[in-house]
Amino acid sequence: MSSFPAIFLSHGSPMLALQDSPARRFLQGLGKSLGRPQAIVVVSAHWETGGGPALSLAPRPETIHDFGGFPRALFEIQYPAPGAPEAARRAAALLAAADIPAGFSADRGLDHGAWVPLGLMYPDADIPVTQLSVVHGASPADHEQLGRALAPLRSEGVLVVGSGSLTHNLVEFRGQAIDAPAPDWVSGFETWMKDRLEDSDRAALLDYRRAAPFAARNHPTEEHLLPLFVAMGAGGPDASATRLHAGVEHGVLAMDAYAFE
Ligand code: ZN
Repeated sequence: MSSFPAIFLSHGSPMLALQDSPARRFLQGLGKSLGRPQAIVVVSAHWETGGGPALSLAPRPETIHDFGGFPRALFEIQYPAPGAPEAARRAAALLAAADIPAGFSADRGLDHGAWVPLGLMYPDADIPVTQLSVVHGASPADHEQLGRALAPLRSEGVLVVGSGSLTHNLVEFRGQAIDAPAPDWVSGFETWMKDRLEDSDRAALLDYRRAAPFAARNHPTEEHLLPLFVAMGAGGPDASATRLHAGVEHGVLAMDAYAFE
């Protein structure tokens, strides 16, 4: 059975589902280049749980339109992929074996951190998907450990996707055009992350909040970067990172994507 890399991707604005951009075209090609997994476990920044991670057992996950102020067409999009309760239970067993107890949700659907990129990668919506939460208040190192526990999934035909945003300061978004230039505080952080990822400098990455330039400005809260650490861990302890896509949208949203294997 083929082994998949673990992927981190930036999902940007929900308009990614409708509006052409380099990041959108990249995601449209990514599914073909990765090939077809048997199931997908997607860790979305938009599902945070307290205490520990949770997995969805929903057999037919609903498409959650968890945003406001966007065109009606965006609210009409459905991503009717089947659920992946079997993959969710397997992931929970791997987490339990690593002393990370995971909870289950019987009916959690797919939020836009999951369905927007998956709708571009696998538009036929015929690959079973389960969501995994990020853990509120848990550290980058905790999320890297969580990913590490899931690494065996990659050789079991399961695609592990972390969906967040390499930079994510919505206060400074201010309706900038999609091609607005990136300020230094965005590009400086993005370059620091790229250099550390390509050097596999995990110690620095896990300490990014102190070590990286403008870390808190790019991530006033951490939930959009935490999926990166899950993907990094799921790549395995010796994984190297390959940048698959780079580019900034709306001035402040770095759309970078990485593969870990
Ligand atoms: Zn988001």
